[in-house]
Amino acid sequence: MAKQVSDKCSFCGQQKADINVLVAGMNAHICDQCIEQAQLIVKEEANARTEEQYANIKLHKPFEIKQHLDKYVIGQDEAKKVLSVAVYNHYKRITQLTDEIDEVEIEKSNIIIVGDTGTGKTLLARTIAKFLDVPFCIADATVLTEAGYVGEDVENVLTRLLQVADYNVSAAEKGIVFIDEIDKIARKGDNPSITRDVSGEGVQQALLKLLEGSEVNVPPQGGRKHPEQKMIKIDTTNILFISGGAFHGIDKIIGSRLQTNVIGYSSANDLAKIDKEYLLQYISPSDIKAYGLIPEIVGRLPVLSFLHPLEKDTLKRILTEPKNSLVKQFIKLFEMDNIKLSFDDDVLDFIVDKSIEFKLGARGLRSIVEAILTDAMFELPSKKSIKSLKVTIAYAMQKFDSTKLAKLKVA
Ligand code: ADP
Repeated sequence: MAKQVSDKCSFCGQQKADINVLVAGMNAHICDQCIEQAQLIVKEEANARTEEQYANIKLHKPFEIKQHLDKYVIGQDEAKKVLSVAVYNHYKRITQLTDEIDEVEIEKSNIIIVGDTGTGKTLLARTIAKFLDVPFCIADATVLTEAGYVGEDVENVLTRLLQVADYNVSAAEKGIVFIDEIDKIARKGDNPSITRDVSGEGVQQALLKLLEGSEVNVPPQGGRKHPEQKMIKIDTTNILFISGGAFHGIDKIIGSRLQTNVIGYSSANDLAKIDKEYLLQYISPSDIKAYGLIPEIVGRLPVLSFLHPLEKDTLKRILTEPKNSLVKQFIKLFEMDNIKLSFDDDVLDFIVDKSIEFKLGARGLRSIVEAILTDAMFELPSKKSIKSLKVTIAYAMQKFDSTKLAKLKVA
């Protein structure tokens, strides 16, 4: 027989009459106040654990980091290598800061990746952050403005990081921030000294403060700063900033620089040897400067890399190879309804061709697969007798042609 429990809180001893809510358990009672107290203790414990988790960042070797990236990101070998080394050095630097204060101080190396949209810039940054288990957030440079203008203050970038880190300041201070579309805050016009875009430059100046490592007052809930709001101080010295941008038209700047160099001291034949198709691989910090980023920003983004445009082969591999590839994701979705989904190989070619034809890049692959499979995903879960779906080229073409997407063709 269960032990008789008296009508009082077994934790604080208060009598039922003095308590709002008393919850009965097997052999004990607990009052609402003690529940609240216990909740606080659990929360504090969890926070302490997060702190511990972030305090001990495991130092992964560049080779390991690249191996991990290979599982999720197809191709882009140069960028993966450069990123792996930069990230390794960055976290090596952080550990050095705590161990050997008076030794040679290693400078922070933030990263800039140049490549068309949808070639994997965000994916690379996100995959690295996940692997390292550090707080990670994405900020869109286009919405940032100088303080006092309509838009978001630059400090709000750190608000997001803080939120991701559950307001754990020391964790946020070791996080990674991906700044997307950094090219959009470049000074406009070919000649920056004549056509100055002052507001773009203002944002760059504000961003510079974060990149170079300083103590920044961050509004914990984001939004505009106002005097009554309590600020949280964040030191950005150990935050790794990875920025990305498409830098449309930068190939012309690279091209003309290369041409000048070649004419300067070598034969015209050398230029012929340069792969005119893909000039981005010859990008240098001076090109970024010429594009309109202020020299101080360029100086604070010392690690520069580029991404290749996605060719047909790469797109096809993206469909099937990554650990969480689209094909694998849809197979899993169908599996949950006990339906075995498979694609004929020419269907994969069809999906890739459509994505190229509609200029949708890797991002478009999902919309096309969705377009092909929507009817099946709608109907099959209610048809218990159907246990498999083999997508043939005829099926794919018919389903795709009947969707709105098929009418979207870009001129
Ligand atoms: P970007 O930041 O360069 O505009 P993203 O990283 O957001 O592009 O890529 C968009 C989507 O395309 C990703 O979520 C991913 O599914 C896919 N993708 C792009 N490039 C690759 C790649 N090299 N390997 C695997 N998937 C890729």
